[in-house]
Amino acid sequence: MNKTTHLADSLEQVRDRIFRVCESADRDPGEITIMAVTKTVGPDDIQEAVERGLRVFGENRVQEALEKIPRCPGNIEWHFIGHLQSNKVRAAVARFEMIHSIDSWKLLEAVNAAAQEHGRSMPVCLQVNVAGESSKHGYAPDDLSATLDRIGELGYVDVVGLMTIPPFTPDPSDARPHFKRLCALRESARHDYGLSLDVISMGMSHDFEIAIEEGSTCIRLGATLFGERKRVHRG
Ligand SMILES: *Cc1c(COP(=O)(O)O)cnc(C)c1O
Repeated sequence: MNKTTHLADSLEQVRDRIFRVCESADRDPGEITIMAVTKTVGPDDIQEAVERGLRVFGENRVQEALEKIPRCPGNIEWHFIGHLQSNKVRAAVARFEMIHSIDSWKLLEAVNAAAQEHGRSMPVCLQVNVAGESSKHGYAPDDLSATLDRIGELGYVDVVGLMTIPPFTPDPSDARPHFKRLCALRESARHDYGLSLDVISMGMSHDFEIAIEEGSTCIRLGATLFGERKRVHRG
């Protein structure tokens, strides 16, 4: 089986699974964005994914993305999903349409400054470490409000949603309480701050169906589309 067939097959299966879970969860599949996560994936496979209708692509390393993006089709929305170091903020703001992985006020200020320089407003999600894992980045749930209290000070970032990466366990349904927690945090933030926080970025290859059942609007899929990678840092 060649690569073309593999991506075509896996994408068809993913779309079918999204459709079925939406049907049983009474959700509109049109509300779910499939983000193709392309770390370690080359431009040829990305080109094919675009030909097969994908538009939103995710990268978790700025350097890898800077090298890759110029060799990829232009009609792609690139989203940053990795831990962002402050010395990479300007490059990220220039290259990405959205940053899903904001995890500190300092980073927000840096993104705000870079976006102002760039003459645009930057859509971001706040990453929440819902399970409090020491190995993962993200806000502790209790720390979100301290950031949202002051978000009006930053005129060039637009907090459009929340993102999480739950602990990996063999049984994907173990992620359910963490997904529920993220949506509950969104509800309180809506109530307390009047933000709409439309983006709920949660669900990866092994747990995206549970994430959709719990309200995800953006599932981030790598392995199930492009094949297994070497195990990498998931934070
Ligand atoms: C790699 C990665 C994904 C995709 O993971 P898969 O298990 O390959 O689907 C999603 N989100 C983030 C933040 C990642 O780093």
